[in-house]
Amino acid sequence: MSHLIHRHLGQRPPVAVGASGVYIDDNQGRRYLDASGGAAVSSLGHGHPDVLAAMHAQIERAAYAHSGFFTTEAAEQLAALLAAEAPGDLDHVYLTSGGSEAIEAALKLARQYYVERGEAQRGIFIARRQSYHGNTLGALALGGNAQRRRHFAPLLIDVARVAPCYAWREQAPGQSEADYTAGLLAELEACIIAAGPRRVIGFCAEPVVGATGGAIPPTAGYFKGVRALCDKHDILFIADEVMCGMGRTGTLHALEQDGVVADLVALGKGLGGGYQPIGALLARAPLVATLREGSGAFQHGHTYGSHPVAAAAALAVQRVLRRDALVAQAARRGAQLRALLDEAFGAHPHVGDIRGRGLLLGLELVRERAGKAPFAPALQLHARIKRQAMARGLMVYPMGGTVDGERGDHILLAPPFIVSQAELGEIVGRLGEALDAAL
Ligand code: PLP
Repeated sequence: MSHLIHRHLGQRPPVAVGASGVYIDDNQGRRYLDASGGAAVSSLGHGHPDVLAAMHAQIERAAYAHSGFFTTEAAEQLAALLAAEAPGDLDHVYLTSGGSEAIEAALKLARQYYVERGEAQRGIFIARRQSYHGNTLGALALGGNAQRRRHFAPLLIDVARVAPCYAWREQAPGQSEADYTAGLLAELEACIIAAGPRRVIGFCAEPVVGATGGAIPPTAGYFKGVRALCDKHDILFIADEVMCGMGRTGTLHALEQDGVVADLVALGKGLGGGYQPIGALLARAPLVATLREGSGAFQHGHTYGSHPVAAAAALAVQRVLRRDALVAQAARRGAQLRALLDEAFGAHPHVGDIRGRGLLLGLELVRERAGKAPFAPALQLHARIKRQAMARGLMVYPMGGTVDGERGDHILLAPPFIVSQAELGEIVGRLGEALDAAL
């Protein structure tokens, strides 16, 4: 018996004993092709020597130094690198131990910004029904995933919710994309007005929806419209790029492709590529200036914030990403994987949609294509696909029945950027076998 509280209390997962490149090995001699990068975490692949060396060097220099007493070169250099390449004046960086913590920091910095501006009445966040922002209480409250919130409702702040940008399901027949997008923006504006613009702190969204829907990109102009509404009503736009950021969609920041700069950007996953637990919050200069000129401190902090080994690992990951031009490679490999998926599943009777950006791609499964009806949640199809894929040495990230309980099953593919073309073929072949066995 295991003393660990596993995600599924009735199941004990395989024991990972090795990992290199795009593969993870278990203690039974089985090898798994990591087609999901864990949960869209691994960008460089596993066991990269440059990252291991950087971590080793930092551990020898100073494994830990509390950020209340010291800063470190690793944390300073990582922040400088992120700030130098961030769009607009997103040039302040707060380092955390993961994505949820980055979102919590965003909620608190945004709230404190308005308090310091003398607007303490502001307390409302707006988010979308189809979204995941993390599992800590603030981030969980923000997320639209009703199933994940269910047990914890009394502990969660109220969040106003609007429709996701989910054209494949929600754009009406005969409606143009522009009209569909305009409708979403009108709903967001109505929500801001109903809440009272002077009571709203900000709107939070994932530029490409990840874990609640499988790589759903926005429609053209959607985020430009969001930015314009946030400016018009003087509320903040918080972009959750924890999953879709740091090159995963083929550009360093996903929102670059929408021509938009958010006020706060949460990062995680690909920032450290899985080598260490690390996330970050990027903040626009005027927000931090308001705190600096006001109370002089961000009323927040964690024991492991700006952890030097985590910062050294992320710095090394980010340097290799740039040296080896891996963001451009993510765009190229993403296009190749997309073409292979279209070829293999474009006419599959139970694959309703294939979508995404860069190496963040998703398949939405349907009982029948014409009406887009999902499989019954009780079938747990996504869990069966995961089991069948693992039995074939393939890791994919499955989701099911998670948005208001009714949206069906999805598969997310997010392999490391170093994946080869031959390995992409392997992924699609094994996925096809897993689907056939599970359906
Ligand atoms: N935001 C998004 C978009 C995510 O996908 C996730 C994790 O899946 C999080 C936030 C939370 O990050 P973490 O699990 O590192 O706390």
